[in-house]
Amino acid sequence: MQAGGRCLALSGGTAPDRGASRAAAEGRAHSRQSPISQATHTAMTPDQIQTRGTLTPQKPLDSLTWLRVGGPADWLFQPADEDDLRDFLEALDPEVPVFPMGVGSNLIVRDGGIRAVVIRLGRGFNGIEISDHITAGAAALDAHVARKAADAGRDLTFLRTIPGSIGGAVRMNAGCYGTYVADHLIEIVAIDRQGQRHIIPASDLKLAYRQSQLPDGMVVTEARFNAPAGDPAALHARMEDQLARRDATQPTKERSAGSTFRNPAGFSSTGRADDSHELKAWKVIDEAGLRGARMGGAQMSPKHPNFLINADGATATELEALGEEVRKRVLQARGISLQWEIMRVGEATPGADVPALELGAVSKE
Ligand SMILES: Cc1cc2nc3c(=O)[nH]c(=O)nc-3n(C[C@H](O)[C@H](O)[C@H](O)COP(=O)(O)OP(=O)(O)OC[C@H]3O[C@@H](n4cnc5c(N)ncnc54)[C@H](O)[C@@H]3O)c2cc1C
Repeated sequence: MQAGGRCLALSGGTAPDRGASRAAAEGRAHSRQSPISQATHTAMTPDQIQTRGTLTPQKPLDSLTWLRVGGPADWLFQPADEDDLRDFLEALDPEVPVFPMGVGSNLIVRDGGIRAVVIRLGRGFNGIEISDHITAGAAALDAHVARKAADAGRDLTFLRTIPGSIGGAVRMNAGCYGTYVADHLIEIVAIDRQGQRHIIPASDLKLAYRQSQLPDGMVVTEARFNAPAGDPAALHARMEDQLARRDATQPTKERSAGSTFRNPAGFSSTGRADDSHELKAWKVIDEAGLRGARMGGAQMSPKHPNFLINADGATATELEALGEEVRKRVLQARGISLQWEIMRVGEATPGADVPALELGAVSKE
Protein backbone atom coordinates (compact mmCIF):
# COMPACT_ATOMS: atom_id res chain seq x y z
CA MET A 1 0.00 0.00 0.00
CA GLN A 2 1.38 3.40 -0.92
CA ALA A 3 0.62 6.70 0.76
CA GLY A 4 -0.12 9.75 -1.36
CA GLY A 5 1.45 9.36 -4.76
CA ARG A 6 -0.18 9.40 -8.17
CA CYS A 7 -3.69 10.67 -8.41
CA LEU A 8 -6.48 9.15 -10.47
CA ALA A 9 -7.80 12.36 -11.96
CA LEU A 10 -11.44 12.18 -12.99
CA SER A 11 -11.53 15.38 -14.97
CA GLY A 12 -8.50 14.76 -17.18
CA GLY A 13 -4.94 15.88 -16.49
CA THR A 14 -3.54 15.77 -13.03
CA ALA A 15 -5.58 16.40 -9.93
CA PRO A 16 -5.25 19.83 -8.39
CA ASP A 17 -2.56 20.27 -5.79
CA ARG A 18 -4.17 19.59 -2.44
CA GLY A 19 -2.81 22.72 -0.75
CA ALA A 20 -3.95 24.90 -3.63
CA SER A 21 -7.40 23.43 -3.66
CA ARG A 22 -7.70 23.82 0.07
CA ALA A 23 -6.63 27.47 -0.24
CA ALA A 24 -9.27 27.99 -2.92
CA ALA A 25 -11.85 26.40 -0.68
CA GLU A 26 -10.85 28.62 2.21
CA GLY A 27 -11.14 31.60 -0.11
CA ARG A 28 -14.72 30.64 -0.85
CA ALA A 29 -15.33 30.24 2.87
CA HIS A 30 -14.15 33.84 3.46
CA SER A 31 -12.75 34.29 6.96
CA ARG A 32 -13.11 30.69 8.14
CA GLN A 33 -10.08 29.25 9.85
CA SER A 34 -8.45 26.25 8.15
CA PRO A 35 -9.68 23.03 9.79
CA ILE A 36 -6.14 21.69 9.64
CA SER A 37 -4.56 24.63 11.42
CA GLN A 38 -7.10 24.10 14.20
CA ALA A 39 -6.54 20.37 14.18
CA THR A 40 -2.83 20.55 14.77
CA HIS A 41 -3.59 21.77 18.27
CA THR A 42 -6.51 19.61 19.40
CA ALA A 43 -8.45 16.57 18.28
CA MET A 44 -11.83 17.99 17.45
CA THR A 45 -15.42 16.86 17.77
CA PRO A 46 -17.32 16.83 14.47
CA ASP A 47 -19.15 20.09 15.16
CA GLN A 48 -15.89 21.95 15.83
CA ILE A 49 -14.57 21.21 12.34
CA GLN A 50 -15.21 23.71 9.57
CA THR A 51 -16.21 21.83 6.43
CA ARG A 52 -17.39 22.73 2.95
CA GLY A 53 -19.75 19.77 2.92
CA THR A 54 -22.80 19.06 5.04
CA LEU A 55 -22.63 17.85 8.63
CA THR A 56 -25.94 16.84 10.22
CA PRO A 57 -26.35 15.73 13.85
CA GLN A 58 -28.74 12.92 14.79
CA LYS A 59 -29.57 12.09 11.19
CA PRO A 60 -32.15 9.28 10.80
CA LEU A 61 -30.77 6.76 8.32
CA ASP A 62 -33.97 4.93 7.35
CA SER A 63 -34.50 7.06 4.26
CA LEU A 64 -30.92 6.34 3.15
CA THR A 65 -31.24 2.55 3.10
CA TRP A 66 -33.00 0.32 0.60
CA LEU A 67 -34.80 -1.52 3.41
CA ARG A 68 -36.05 1.80 4.83
CA VAL A 69 -35.02 0.98 8.39
CA GLY A 70 -32.45 2.41 10.76
CA GLY A 71 -32.15 4.81 13.67
CA PRO A 72 -30.08 7.98 13.68
CA ALA A 73 -26.36 8.40 13.09
CA ASP A 74 -24.72 10.60 15.71
CA TRP A 75 -23.48 12.59 12.72
CA LEU A 76 -23.89 12.32 8.98
CA PHE A 77 -21.04 13.93 7.03
CA GLN A 78 -21.39 14.51 3.29
CA PRO A 79 -18.04 15.93 2.18
CA ALA A 80 -17.86 18.39 -0.69
CA ASP A 81 -14.85 16.66 -2.24
CA GLU A 82 -11.79 14.60 -1.39
CA ASP A 83 -9.88 17.47 0.23
CA ASP A 84 -12.87 18.24 2.44
CA LEU A 85 -13.00 14.59 3.49
CA ARG A 86 -9.25 14.49 4.20
CA ASP A 87 -9.33 17.68 6.24
CA PHE A 88 -12.29 16.45 8.26
CA LEU A 89 -10.73 13.08 9.09
CA GLU A 90 -7.38 14.64 9.90
CA ALA A 91 -9.01 17.04 12.35
CA LEU A 92 -11.45 14.57 13.90
CA ASP A 93 -10.72 13.15 17.34
CA PRO A 94 -9.23 9.70 16.63
CA GLU A 95 -11.52 8.24 19.30
CA VAL A 96 -14.63 9.04 17.23
CA PRO A 97 -15.55 6.07 15.02
CA VAL A 98 -16.45 6.62 11.37
CA PHE A 99 -18.60 4.46 9.14
CA PRO A 100 -18.54 4.89 5.35
CA MET A 101 -21.89 4.25 3.74
CA GLY A 102 -22.83 3.93 0.08
CA VAL A 103 -26.47 3.97 -1.02
CA GLY A 104 -27.50 1.47 1.65
CA SER A 105 -28.43 -1.41 -0.66
CA ASN A 106 -26.61 -4.01 1.43
CA LEU A 107 -27.32 -2.73 4.92
CA ILE A 108 -29.60 -3.27 7.87
CA VAL A 109 -29.04 -0.25 10.10
CA ARG A 110 -30.42 -1.23 13.50
CA ASP A 111 -33.23 0.79 15.09
CA GLY A 112 -31.00 2.36 17.76
CA GLY A 113 -28.83 3.96 15.08
CA ILE A 114 -25.06 4.30 14.73
CA ARG A 115 -22.73 5.83 17.33
CA ALA A 116 -20.30 7.20 14.78
CA VAL A 117 -19.84 9.75 12.05
CA VAL A 118 -21.45 8.17 9.01
CA ILE A 119 -19.70 9.36 5.85
CA ARG A 120 -21.76 9.40 2.71
CA LEU A 121 -20.19 10.53 -0.54
CA GLY A 122 -22.23 12.48 -3.06
CA ARG A 123 -21.84 14.84 -5.97
CA GLY A 124 -18.11 15.55 -5.52
CA PHE A 125 -17.38 11.85 -5.91
CA ASN A 126 -19.47 10.65 -8.83
CA GLY A 127 -17.33 11.42 -11.88
CA ILE A 128 -16.74 8.77 -14.55
CA GLU A 129 -13.74 8.98 -16.87
CA ILE A 130 -13.30 6.64 -19.80
CA SER A 131 -9.86 6.27 -21.36
CA ASP A 132 -7.80 3.08 -21.63
CA HIS A 133 -9.40 2.21 -18.33
CA ILE A 134 -12.56 3.33 -16.59
CA THR A 135 -12.18 5.45 -13.49
CA ALA A 136 -15.28 6.05 -11.41
CA GLY A 137 -15.90 8.05 -8.27
CA ALA A 138 -17.05 5.98 -5.30
CA ALA A 139 -20.48 7.64 -5.25
CA ALA A 140 -21.20 6.80 -8.89
CA LEU A 141 -23.97 4.24 -9.18
CA ASP A 142 -22.92 0.86 -10.57
CA ALA A 143 -25.73 0.97 -13.15
CA HIS A 144 -24.66 4.40 -14.38
CA VAL A 145 -21.04 3.30 -14.73
CA ALA A 146 -22.12 0.22 -16.70
CA ARG A 147 -24.29 2.28 -19.05
CA LYS A 148 -21.66 4.97 -19.68
CA ALA A 149 -19.04 2.30 -20.28
CA ALA A 150 -21.31 0.53 -22.77
CA ASP A 151 -22.00 3.81 -24.59
CA ALA A 152 -18.24 4.05 -25.10
CA GLY A 153 -17.96 0.41 -26.21
CA ARG A 154 -16.47 -0.88 -22.94
CA ASP A 155 -17.77 -3.90 -21.05
CA LEU A 156 -18.63 -3.45 -17.38
CA THR A 157 -22.08 -4.91 -18.01
CA PHE A 158 -21.95 -7.03 -14.83
CA LEU A 159 -22.49 -3.83 -12.81
CA ARG A 160 -25.76 -2.91 -14.56
CA THR A 161 -28.20 -4.75 -12.28
CA ILE A 162 -26.41 -4.17 -8.96
CA PRO A 163 -28.15 -1.26 -7.26
CA GLY A 164 -25.21 0.01 -5.16
CA SER A 165 -22.45 2.57 -5.59
CA ILE A 166 -18.87 1.94 -6.69
CA GLY A 167 -17.57 2.32 -3.10
CA GLY A 168 -19.97 -0.36 -1.89
CA ALA A 169 -19.16 -2.55 -4.89
CA VAL A 170 -15.44 -2.51 -4.05
CA ARG A 171 -16.05 -3.17 -0.35
CA MET A 172 -18.39 -6.09 -1.09
CA ASN A 173 -16.61 -7.37 -4.23
CA ALA A 174 -20.04 -7.10 -5.83
CA GLY A 175 -20.86 -9.28 -8.78
CA CYS A 176 -23.45 -11.30 -10.57
CA TYR A 177 -23.82 -13.82 -13.37
CA GLY A 178 -20.32 -15.12 -12.69
CA THR A 179 -18.40 -11.81 -12.86
CA TYR A 180 -17.15 -9.88 -9.84
CA VAL A 181 -15.43 -6.55 -9.17
CA ALA A 182 -12.28 -8.60 -8.58
CA ASP A 183 -12.25 -9.60 -12.27
CA HIS A 184 -11.96 -5.96 -13.44
CA LEU A 185 -10.56 -3.83 -10.60
CA ILE A 186 -7.04 -2.41 -11.05
CA GLU A 187 -6.72 -0.11 -8.04
CA ILE A 188 -8.60 2.22 -5.75
CA VAL A 189 -8.02 5.55 -4.08
CA ALA A 190 -8.96 5.54 -0.40
CA ILE A 191 -8.65 7.90 2.55
CA ASP A 192 -7.70 6.42 5.88
CA ARG A 193 -9.04 7.38 9.32
CA GLN A 194 -6.20 9.91 9.75
CA GLY A 195 -7.02 11.65 6.46
CA GLN A 196 -4.11 10.14 4.51
CA ARG A 197 -4.63 9.33 0.84
CA HIS A 198 -3.66 5.89 -0.48
CA ILE A 199 -3.59 4.27 -3.89
CA ILE A 200 -4.21 0.60 -3.25
CA PRO A 201 -3.78 -2.10 -5.90
CA ALA A 202 -6.69 -4.53 -6.15
CA SER A 203 -4.44 -7.43 -5.07
CA ASP A 204 -3.98 -5.80 -1.64
CA LEU A 205 -7.72 -5.85 -1.01
CA LYS A 206 -7.88 -9.68 -0.96
CA LEU A 207 -11.21 -9.63 -2.77
CA ALA A 208 -13.20 -12.82 -2.30
CA TYR A 209 -16.83 -13.90 -2.59
CA ARG A 210 -18.76 -10.89 -1.23
CA GLN A 211 -15.87 -9.64 0.86
CA SER A 212 -12.68 -7.58 0.92
CA GLN A 213 -10.03 -6.69 3.43
CA LEU A 214 -10.51 -2.94 3.25
CA PRO A 215 -9.39 -1.66 6.66
CA ASP A 216 -12.19 -0.39 8.96
CA GLY A 217 -12.97 3.29 8.54
CA MET A 218 -11.07 3.55 5.23
CA VAL A 219 -13.19 5.47 2.72
CA VAL A 220 -12.93 4.50 -0.95
CA THR A 221 -13.12 7.61 -3.13
CA GLU A 222 -12.32 6.26 -6.62
CA ALA A 223 -11.85 2.95 -8.41
CA ARG A 224 -10.13 2.15 -11.69
CA PHE A 225 -11.29 -0.79 -13.80
CA ASN A 226 -10.17 -2.78 -16.81
CA ALA A 227 -13.05 -3.01 -19.27
CA PRO A 228 -12.69 -4.99 -22.49
CA ALA A 229 -13.91 -3.48 -25.74
CA GLY A 230 -17.32 -4.48 -27.09
CA ASP A 231 -20.00 -3.38 -29.49
CA PRO A 232 -22.18 -0.77 -27.71
CA ALA A 233 -25.45 -2.15 -29.08
CA ALA A 234 -24.54 -5.70 -28.02
CA LEU A 235 -23.48 -4.53 -24.55
CA HIS A 236 -26.76 -2.64 -24.06
CA ALA A 237 -28.72 -5.67 -25.28
CA ARG A 238 -26.91 -7.90 -22.76
CA MET A 239 -27.81 -5.50 -19.96
CA GLU A 240 -31.46 -5.45 -21.00
CA ASP A 241 -31.42 -9.23 -20.90
CA GLN A 242 -29.92 -9.20 -17.39
CA LEU A 243 -32.58 -6.76 -16.18
CA ALA A 244 -35.33 -8.98 -17.57
CA ARG A 245 -33.81 -12.06 -15.88
CA ARG A 246 -33.74 -10.21 -12.56
CA ASP A 247 -37.34 -9.12 -12.87
CA ALA A 248 -38.37 -12.68 -13.66
CA THR A 249 -36.69 -14.26 -10.62
CA GLN A 250 -36.25 -11.60 -7.92
CA PRO A 251 -38.60 -9.21 -6.06
CA THR A 252 -37.09 -6.16 -7.74
CA LYS A 253 -40.07 -3.94 -6.89
CA GLU A 254 -39.88 -4.71 -3.14
CA ARG A 255 -37.74 -3.10 -0.45
CA SER A 256 -34.82 -5.49 0.05
CA ALA A 257 -31.05 -5.54 0.38
CA GLY A 258 -30.53 -8.20 -2.29
CA SER A 259 -29.34 -11.65 -1.24
CA THR A 260 -29.62 -12.01 2.52
CA PHE A 261 -27.14 -14.86 2.98
CA ARG A 262 -24.07 -15.93 1.04
CA ASN A 263 -24.54 -19.05 -1.01
CA PRO A 264 -23.09 -22.03 0.90
CA ALA A 265 -21.56 -23.05 -2.45
CA GLY A 266 -19.20 -20.05 -2.11
CA PHE A 267 -20.08 -18.20 -5.30
CA SER A 268 -22.98 -16.23 -6.71
CA SER A 269 -25.29 -17.53 -9.40
CA THR A 270 -23.54 -17.70 -12.73
CA GLY A 271 -26.80 -17.96 -14.62
CA ARG A 272 -25.31 -20.85 -16.63
CA ALA A 273 -27.18 -24.06 -17.30
CA ASP A 274 -24.61 -26.18 -15.40
CA ASP A 275 -24.87 -24.05 -12.24
CA SER A 276 -26.37 -26.48 -9.69
CA HIS A 277 -28.87 -25.04 -7.22
CA GLU A 278 -28.08 -27.61 -4.51
CA LEU A 279 -25.98 -25.29 -2.35
CA LYS A 280 -27.77 -22.04 -3.08
CA ALA A 281 -29.06 -20.13 -0.07
CA TRP A 282 -32.53 -19.74 -1.63
CA LYS A 283 -32.78 -23.48 -2.12
CA VAL A 284 -31.90 -24.50 1.44
CA ILE A 285 -34.25 -21.80 2.82
CA ASP A 286 -37.02 -23.03 0.54
CA GLU A 287 -36.45 -26.66 1.58
CA ALA A 288 -36.64 -25.65 5.25
CA GLY A 289 -40.19 -24.41 4.54
CA LEU A 290 -39.31 -20.74 4.98
CA ARG A 291 -40.32 -19.27 1.64
CA GLY A 292 -42.75 -16.45 2.51
CA ALA A 293 -42.13 -16.77 6.31
CA ARG A 294 -42.93 -13.56 8.21
CA MET A 295 -42.15 -11.78 11.45
CA GLY A 296 -44.19 -8.63 11.78
CA GLY A 297 -43.54 -6.59 8.64
CA ALA A 298 -40.47 -8.62 7.63
CA GLN A 299 -40.78 -11.47 5.14
CA MET A 300 -38.63 -13.96 3.22
CA SER A 301 -39.81 -13.14 -0.28
CA PRO A 302 -42.32 -15.59 -1.76
CA LYS A 303 -40.66 -14.93 -5.13
CA HIS A 304 -37.03 -15.52 -4.05
CA PRO A 305 -36.62 -16.96 -0.52
CA ASN A 306 -33.08 -15.55 -0.04
CA PHE A 307 -34.46 -12.01 -0.32
CA LEU A 308 -35.48 -10.54 3.03
CA ILE A 309 -38.06 -7.86 2.30
CA ASN A 310 -39.68 -5.06 4.21
CA ALA A 311 -43.18 -6.11 3.24
CA ASP A 312 -45.13 -3.89 5.62
CA GLY A 313 -43.46 -1.29 7.83
CA ALA A 314 -40.89 -3.68 9.33
CA THR A 315 -38.40 -2.55 11.95
CA ALA A 316 -34.74 -3.48 11.74
CA THR A 317 -35.36 -5.70 14.78
CA GLU A 318 -37.98 -7.68 12.86
CA LEU A 319 -35.82 -8.03 9.76
CA GLU A 320 -32.77 -9.21 11.69
CA ALA A 321 -34.80 -11.51 13.95
CA LEU A 322 -36.39 -13.18 10.93
CA GLY A 323 -32.95 -13.64 9.36
CA GLU A 324 -31.62 -15.21 12.57
CA GLU A 325 -34.66 -17.51 12.80
CA VAL A 326 -34.01 -18.63 9.22
CA ARG A 327 -30.37 -19.35 10.08
CA LYS A 328 -31.43 -21.40 13.11
CA ARG A 329 -33.97 -23.46 11.18
CA VAL A 330 -31.70 -24.11 8.20
CA LEU A 331 -28.98 -25.27 10.60
CA GLN A 332 -31.46 -27.66 12.24
CA ALA A 333 -32.85 -28.90 8.93
CA ARG A 334 -29.65 -29.17 6.85
CA GLY A 335 -26.68 -28.69 9.19
CA ILE A 336 -25.71 -25.63 7.12
CA SER A 337 -24.74 -22.43 8.93
CA LEU A 338 -25.85 -19.60 6.64
CA GLN A 339 -23.63 -16.51 6.71
CA TRP A 340 -25.16 -13.05 6.41
CA GLU A 341 -24.32 -11.23 3.20
CA ILE A 342 -26.30 -8.16 4.31
CA MET A 343 -24.17 -6.07 6.67
CA ARG A 344 -25.90 -5.29 9.97
CA VAL A 345 -24.63 -2.18 11.72
CA GLY A 346 -25.50 0.00 14.68
CA GLU A 347 -27.29 -0.59 17.96
CA ALA A 348 -30.44 -2.55 18.64
CA THR A 349 -33.24 -0.98 20.67
CA PRO A 350 -33.17 -2.74 24.05
CA GLY A 351 -36.38 -4.62 24.84
CA ALA A 352 -37.83 -4.22 21.33
CA ASP A 353 -40.74 -6.54 20.52
CA VAL A 354 -39.93 -9.56 18.38
CA PRO A 355 -43.13 -10.91 16.79
CA ALA A 356 -43.75 -14.64 16.40
CA LEU A 357 -42.74 -16.45 13.21
CA GLU A 358 -45.61 -17.07 10.80
CA LEU A 359 -45.17 -19.82 8.25
CA GLY A 360 -47.62 -19.20 5.43
CA ALA A 361 -48.55 -21.52 2.59
CA VAL A 362 -47.07 -19.68 -0.36
CA SER A 363 -47.40 -20.30 -4.01
CA LYS A 364 -44.17 -20.11 -6.00
CA GLU A 365 -44.42 -17.53 -8.76
C1 LIG B 1 -32.43 -5.63 -5.34
C2 LIG B 1 -30.97 -5.85 -4.98
C3 LIG B 1 -30.19 -6.69 -5.77
C4 LIG B 1 -28.84 -6.90 -5.46
N1 LIG B 1 -28.09 -7.72 -6.25
C5 LIG B 1 -26.77 -7.86 -5.99
C6 LIG B 1 -25.96 -8.68 -6.84
O1 LIG B 1 -26.40 -9.25 -7.84
N2 LIG B 1 -24.64 -8.81 -6.55
C7 LIG B 1 -24.09 -8.21 -5.47
O2 LIG B 1 -22.89 -8.34 -5.27
N3 LIG B 1 -24.84 -7.44 -4.64
C8 LIG B 1 -26.16 -7.25 -4.88
N4 LIG B 1 -26.92 -6.48 -4.03
C9 LIG B 1 -26.31 -5.93 -2.81
C10 LIG B 1 -25.71 -4.52 -2.94
O3 LIG B 1 -26.28 -3.81 -4.02
C11 LIG B 1 -24.20 -4.59 -3.12
O4 LIG B 1 -23.57 -5.21 -2.01
C12 LIG B 1 -23.59 -3.20 -3.30
O5 LIG B 1 -22.25 -3.34 -3.71
C13 LIG B 1 -23.64 -2.33 -2.03
O6 LIG B 1 -23.30 -1.01 -2.41
P1 LIG B 1 -23.87 0.23 -1.58
O7 LIG B 1 -23.34 1.47 -2.20
O8 LIG B 1 -25.34 0.16 -1.45
O9 LIG B 1 -23.18 -0.01 -0.17
P2 LIG B 1 -23.85 0.00 1.28
O10 LIG B 1 -24.93 -0.99 1.36
O11 LIG B 1 -24.18 1.39 1.68
O12 LIG B 1 -22.62 -0.49 2.17
C14 LIG B 1 -22.17 -1.83 2.05
C15 LIG B 1 -20.76 -1.92 2.64
O13 LIG B 1 -19.87 -1.16 1.83
C16 LIG B 1 -19.19 -0.20 2.61
N5 LIG B 1 -18.99 1.01 1.78
C17 LIG B 1 -19.90 1.63 0.99
N6 LIG B 1 -19.34 2.68 0.37
C18 LIG B 1 -18.05 2.73 0.80
C19 LIG B 1 -16.96 3.60 0.54
N7 LIG B 1 -17.06 4.65 -0.29
N8 LIG B 1 -15.79 3.34 1.16
C20 LIG B 1 -15.66 2.29 2.00
N9 LIG B 1 -16.65 1.43 2.29
C21 LIG B 1 -17.83 1.66 1.69
C22 LIG B 1 -20.08 0.06 3.82
O14 LIG B 1 -19.30 0.50 4.93
C23 LIG B 1 -20.64 -1.32 4.05
O15 LIG B 1 -19.70 -2.08 4.76
C24 LIG B 1 -28.27 -6.25 -4.33
C25 LIG B 1 -29.05 -5.39 -3.55
C26 LIG B 1 -30.39 -5.18 -3.87
C27 LIG B 1 -31.20 -4.23 -3.03
